[in-house]
Amino acid sequence: MSETVQFFIKETIAKQENIQHLGTLDLELMACSLLGVERSKLLTSPIALNQDSKDEFWSMIRRRMDGEPLAYILGKKGFWNLDLEVNNQVLVPRPETEILIEDILLNFNQTNLSVLDLGTGSGAIGLSLKKEKKEWDVYCSDISINALEVANKNSLKNNLEVNFICCDWLNAFKPNSFDLLISNPPYIKTNDIRLKSDGLSHEPLEALVSGTTGKEHLFVIATSSKRFLKKGGFLYLEHSPCQAKDLKLFLKKLNFKNISEIFDLNGDKRSIKAQLF
Ligand code: GLN
Repeated sequence: MSETVQFFIKETIAKQENIQHLGTLDLELMACSLLGVERSKLLTSPIALNQDSKDEFWSMIRRRMDGEPLAYILGKKGFWNLDLEVNNQVLVPRPETEILIEDILLNFNQTNLSVLDLGTGSGAIGLSLKKEKKEWDVYCSDISINALEVANKNSLKNNLEVNFICCDWLNAFKPNSFDLLISNPPYIKTNDIRLKSDGLSHEPLEALVSGTTGKEHLFVIATSSKRFLKKGGFLYLEHSPCQAKDLKLFLKKLNFKNISEIFDLNGDKRSIKAQLF
């Protein structure tokens, strides 16, 4: 009988115990994606692995060992209520960002809200909000046309009608347009050592890095958002926990009110919201 994929996984793990990027779950998910089967099937019935699939499996394993995020290898990542297609043109959507979605859904029940996801990448924020709130008018913008291509695929795949705009931050919009302006912009310092680490080193730099302080884009967006939010509208920004204090002060100086922090699952200040009066 030919080798089974289950045997291959077991053997690979046994042989490569010391390779930190490779866990059984990673291998199982790669196998499911490669063979087009559900994980439950993989766990319950033996599946043959032919030589071509084995070669393909090895190439996936090598990519992972090279530090490439699993999401790029599988070509997808679960975020909130969506299974999003991703590739190396967009940031891998992260659970930290789901906290933003949760806060928005808890606090905004109105119909007819006009919402902008600024720097949408894969479309994670805008599309998951649209899926929850079909009556909202959702705009997703990005400076990268390649990112918008991914976001557009995700909108079509999930049957979600949003408006895509290719522009540099807010330069394409009319003043006083939005009730909610949400962004997970780049916020890492140019010389941050983490940029060379597992995962991040494979993601698009322009989606991660924001000048020598990491705060440049956050400050630019906060400043210009005042023109584009409607009175009473809210700005939501994701940031690094170490930027929380400076960003809060900056928003105060800009005269935003009702400023509050949103904590991520690690208990870190990961996002901030503020209202325009
Ligand atoms: N959340 C990412 C990280 O710190 C950074 C994403 C971003 O810059 N928006 O790993």
